Amino acid sequence: MTGARPWQGICREFRDILPPVPDAAVVTLLEGNTPLVPAPRLAARIAPGLELHLKIEGQNPTGSFKDRGMTVAVSRAVAGGAKAVICASTGNTSASAAAYAARAGLRCAVVIPEGQIALGKLAQAMVHGARVVAVRGNFDRALELVRTLAEDGTAVVVNSINPDRIEGQKTIAWEIADALGRVPDLHALPVGNAGNITAAWKGWTERDRATGGGTPRMMGFQAAGAAPIVHGARVEDPKTIATAIKIGNPASWRGALEARDASGGVIDAVSDDEIVAAYRMLASLEGVFVEPASAAGLAGLLKLGASGGLNGAAVAVATVTGHGLKDPERAVQVSGAFETVDADLDALRRAVLA
Ligand SMILES: *Cc1c(COP(=O)(O)O)cnc(C)c1O
Repeated sequence: MTGARPWQGICREFRDILPPVPDAAVVTLLEGNTPLVPAPRLAARIAPGLELHLKIEGQNPTGSFKDRGMTVAVSRAVAGGAKAVICASTGNTSASAAAYAARAGLRCAVVIPEGQIALGKLAQAMVHGARVVAVRGNFDRALELVRTLAEDGTAVVVNSINPDRIEGQKTIAWEIADALGRVPDLHALPVGNAGNITAAWKGWTERDRATGGGTPRMMGFQAAGAAPIVHGARVEDPKTIATAIKIGNPASWRGALEARDASGGVIDAVSDDEIVAAYRMLASLEGVFVEPASAAGLAGLLKLGASGGLNGAAVAVATVTGHGLKDPERAVQVSGAFETVDADLDALRRAVLA
């Protein structure tokens, strides 16, 4: 250690740009301050001469960027005297809400689409003691139900329709610019409910107004089977292996369009095959293990790079949103099988050298 001051988490580090939270109400797991890691081998696959960095949000305390916003939402719920929080979730929001609620001593209810949530995320919500309820319906329906249920004020909704979530998540812009020493030309990320692209764009524009430096083009990518923003129409039955972005009616739809249009960016679709290819490349070329949805931003850059659609951008940052261990079943499924041999030196030598 060099004697640097220890990191204090999003609410305290970014106090000046966040809604007020009394210090006694702060609920933190010291989220944020995630690594920005250069990815030269992947960059070379995207476009010659491109400089690419990965903002590894899977290193947040519960393994996704949701923690950045959850610390603000739960702290403000505590400050407001709430006794309970509730969310609909494709998984990571519930994992994060459950952890922060546990830490705050609040009750937490999470409503998930039945059979569509990765095992690691479900495990998190359960072990942190949330009341987990699966509904026979998709995420969009679950969110509709939660919004209505919470109208009487018994619980604070901590989905990204809660503006405190957006406020917390906008901090990624400052962290990226500080680590890079400049604003990137492109900021790529997956788009599901579109809270994160809305938040990142809010961060970039506020930072630009405060300190200058400009703003990146926002490059958002939806899964082809769940691409309502790309097609300009709700998707009733969204389909993709990338469960974190399996959303047919994004709550922050308008925010995503604003981010795209005001930044001169794009919101495009990538197929599940392209997502899995990018997911495997992240792991095998860069040593970065993410969950499938997290690879959608890279899949998009690979796709646009191949068609010359990056307009000569020099520096790109891709937010990789969640940790690979959230969904270990997928990792095993897309990887080659392993071999079992007798406990015998020759057999082992043959197998290792194969
Ligand atoms: C929530 C989530 C997304 C999608 O973010 P939105 O704000 O819903 O667009 C993408 N990847 C992961 C890992 C997530 O948890």
